[in-house]
Amino acid sequence: MSDTIRTGGCQCGAVRFRIRGKLGRASICHCRMCQKAFGGFFGPLVSAPADGVEWPREAPSYFQSSINIERGFCPRCGTPLTYRHPEGLEIAIGAFDDRSDLMPRIQVHSGSAIEWVEKIFDAPKRSAAEDAARREEGMISFQHPDHETENWPTKGLNL
Ligand SMILES: [Zn+2]
Ligand SMILES: [Zn+2]
Repeated sequence: MSDTIRTGGCQCGAVRFRIRGKLGRASICHCRMCQKAFGGFFGPLVSAPADGVEWPREAPSYFQSSINIERGFCPRCGTPLTYRHPEGLEIAIGAFDDRSDLMPRIQVHSGSAIEWVEKIFDAPKRSAAEDAARREEGMISFQHPDHETENWPTKGLNL
């Protein structure tokens, strides 16, 4: 339907995706499996056309979390990337290079939500000035940038 190509990938850059076609519903899932798989408070996912997803570098590894479900992740850095179920494929929202239009529109399995999750943004915010003051001098990031790269020579990778 759309020629737009959406890109993204894991933190280290070994696993990158290119998605051709229209993305579907963006959601957060509060189930216990998503909490564990993401190491977070919920799973942020958007559905993708199953035949429109390419992995131009390495393919993800998969953990079968239940009889019909596989969860894909980078075998090198562990970033959660996919949720594959009999009806389709979903991709972790935070892994997209551009997440600006992927605001979740629905919450699922909200009966399993952590009891305080709706209050987390009530916590006080450290100021930007303090964030900057605490930033380590000379910090060097090994995180892949939020765009496609010809080659990503990061530590330990043979791409
Ligand atoms: Zn990785
Ligand atoms: Zn879930």
